[in-house]
Amino acid sequence: MKIRFLGTGSCESVPAIFCNCPVCEELRRGIAAGEENALNSIRLRTHAMIDDEVLIDFNADTYYAALKNNLDLSKLGVVLLTHTHEDHFYPQDLALRCEPYAHNLKYPVLTVYCNEKAQERYDFYANLSGEHNGKVAFQPVKLFEAIEWNGYRFTPLAAHHMKTEQALLWLVEKGNARYLCGNDTGMFPEETFAFLEQMGKEGKALSLIALDCALGDTHYPYEWHLGVDDAAAIVNRLKAAGTITDKTHTYINHISHDYGHKAYAEYCEFAKGFGLSVSRNGQLIEVEE
Ligand SMILES: [Zn+2]
Ligand SMILES: [Zn+2]
Ligand SMILES: [Zn+2]
Repeated sequence: MKIRFLGTGSCESVPAIFCNCPVCEELRRGIAAGEENALNSIRLRTHAMIDDEVLIDFNADTYYAALKNNLDLSKLGVVLLTHTHEDHFYPQDLALRCEPYAHNLKYPVLTVYCNEKAQERYDFYANLSGEHNGKVAFQPVKLFEAIEWNGYRFTPLAAHHMKTEQALLWLVEKGNARYLCGNDTGMFPEETFAFLEQMGKEGKALSLIALDCALGDTHYPYEWHLGVDDAAAIVNRLKAAGTITDKTHTYINHISHDYGHKAYAEYCEFAKGFGLSVSRNGQLIEVEE
């Protein structure tokens, strides 16, 4: 299974869309000068592609990320949506998957596995533009109930991220490959830990986990995201259960430009102290099936 991080930033992106703070100013200077560390520090909004057909989240940066990574979105069969915050769901673009704009689609209908809120958000925009054509189907899911699709198994786990809807973590399995997309979330709910710890007991270790790190190096008393120490605590707890082993790729993701932001190389050095790697736009991780 191939996982490509298409975006790795928080809602405001890095550098941030309307910001001229010293972090953004220095990054923009480095980007304009073509400096490698600055280019590696650009963070589109978080989403990831699995092989060529499964996308986790679809946001306003998906179009650009597909161009940048030479991806053909006409092959897309499934979107696994975590929640409807604007940095994860951009229905305006999804509604363009129709005639006369989208030809030669591999799957006539794109299935969006999602929570209970996504369909109404989509309908609002699709009805505005009149592009409501049945080429995108929303399938609300039940927590912890697996979905089988083309040799994949997708299981929605409970995140702790917002009051107004149930945000989801997605476990994607194919053969022995297991990827847990762990954003957006605060500390995992106990029911999610119980599910993952049971996997460890059954010898089903994760190949890759990518965890929310919007709060960076801070201990900001905010319960809906994780800091690097929280992410490390989750990894350590799952290690004790055997769900994470020395072979598991452990990444932080969904990084904000606030809360002790560092450029990519410096962030990697910092995260190493917590036993974690730092995701980067366009990074491809291939795990054994
Ligand atoms: Zn987010
Ligand atoms: Zn800024
Ligand atoms: Zn969110």
